[in-house]
Amino acid sequence: MTSTVDHEAIATAAGRDLEEASAQDVLRWAAETFGKRFCVTSSMEDAVVAHLASSVFPGVDVVFLDTGYHFAETIGTRDAVAAVMPVNVITLTPLQTVAEQDAQYGPHLHDRDPDLCCSLRKVEPLNRGLGGYDAWATGLRRDESPTRANTPVVSWDPKRRKVKIAPIARWTQEDVDAYVAANGVLLNPLLWEGYTSVGCSPLSCTRKPVEGEEARAGRWAGSGKTECGIHL
Ligand code: SF4
Repeated sequence: MTSTVDHEAIATAAGRDLEEASAQDVLRWAAETFGKRFCVTSSMEDAVVAHLASSVFPGVDVVFLDTGYHFAETIGTRDAVAAVMPVNVITLTPLQTVAEQDAQYGPHLHDRDPDLCCSLRKVEPLNRGLGGYDAWATGLRRDESPTRANTPVVSWDPKRRKVKIAPIARWTQEDVDAYVAANGVLLNPLLWEGYTSVGCSPLSCTRKPVEGEEARAGRWAGSGKTECGIHL
């Protein structure tokens, strides 16, 4: 097995070499380079990256963070993905249930301290869950928000010491829509109800955007928070 130092060098070289590669070629490279030590993470807003990965690496692990605050539609999307796609869905859960967190920190922590809530319910479980992998893929896209505008296709994740892959970083929403239509990719039904970014269900965490807002404007709207911490 290569060392983490080698992985950093691999990430740097791939980030340079794969910038213009297709999403399938990026994922094929990841599967060939890391095998079962590569996974896809999915919020279950859609199954686009899971679909792309499964087309070049059937049986790929798809990691989902069950925060305990998801919409029923998101859990349903996860279950549908597990049922019909050639992937291995792995559900990660926080160390505490919502009830246990409420008992320690008080109810509605998401309204009072969303950074702490996300740290407990997203960041810690993901960091723990990625322990068995050398590389992980996400669905980050440059056109989603200004904070994601410089997302590399392949990079070194220094906090987790993993190779981080964003195979559709260069895709636009139109590219996503075309791929979904051409391949019958599963979508979270909330996307048909006007949501353009689906996170946890408390209104302080996810609301529908209003006319003219960017796709992620409904996430932690009005709080100044734009990311859960996984991608910072
Ligand atoms: S998105 Fe909201 S409910 Fe979900 S973990 Fe973050 S603060 Fe908590």
